[in-house]
Amino acid sequence: MSAPTDTAEAATEDDEAGDTKASSKSGIDAYLPNRREAIFLGGGAILGGLLGAGGVAYTGGEHVAPDRNDAAAPSSKQARELLVEGNARFVAGTPERPDQTLARRAIVAGGQHPFAAILSCADSRVPPEVLFDQGLGDLFVVRSAGQVVDRAVLGSLQYGVEHLEIPLLVVLGHTACGAVNATVEAVETKAKPTGTAIDDLVAAIKPAVEEAGEIGAEGEDLVETVIGLNVERVSEALKSDPVIGEFVAKRSLKVVGAVYDLSTGEVEWL
Ligand SMILES: [Zn+2]
Repeated sequence: MSAPTDTAEAATEDDEAGDTKASSKSGIDAYLPNRREAIFLGGGAILGGLLGAGGVAYTGGEHVAPDRNDAAAPSSKQARELLVEGNARFVAGTPERPDQTLARRAIVAGGQHPFAAILSCADSRVPPEVLFDQGLGDLFVVRSAGQVVDRAVLGSLQYGVEHLEIPLLVVLGHTACGAVNATVEAVETKAKPTGTAIDDLVAAIKPAVEEAGEIGAEGEDLVETVIGLNVERVSEALKSDPVIGEFVAKRSLKVVGAVYDLSTGEVEWL
């Protein structure tokens, strides 16, 4: 008997958080810690290979939720409702694990129509498909420590929005984020760069630490404040990206921030 492999990718959705604040002066280029166009996923072929492959099938479980009909593309509001409902099931310990049947696997092998894109931290305790109780083909997930955006992350999200017509993009931070903790510590101790790529993560999160300091956050509140500010900064930067911003402007995409609580399992929408 094979064990159920629920890899999930979470789905995201939103509607309210998608308000289009005017792009701040910090456009996505300003946000990027450094420009690494050289490593940018340069071709559709790479993206096609990257995005076309399937995930893991859920092969066990007593309760089998029905597969969704992807023909009915949800609005950003409906997409967010699906995420809210899925997270409520996860929090209550009553996941349905939808879209994880063998039939679903066969259906999505022919193409994907995810209803939400999620940019979340790489932290092993924050798997979007699990905490939003979604299945194969539901969520277009991009992850990096601290949800830091580099060209590869940005290109992946642009692809999801432009080519997969995803109506909702969620930037998902989480409590007790190690990347944020490390950055706060680096700022407080005035640590020197290590020469590793981790420096890029710290450089990207550092402005949120500085902003938190400017508004007086300190002590135990500091990290939590930075976590929220980092989500907001990433969300605003994505909205000001020319490609993603175009879809936000024509109201076919909502970009929303949220923070996942490791202890309660709840997603708080910002
Ligand atoms: Zn994290």
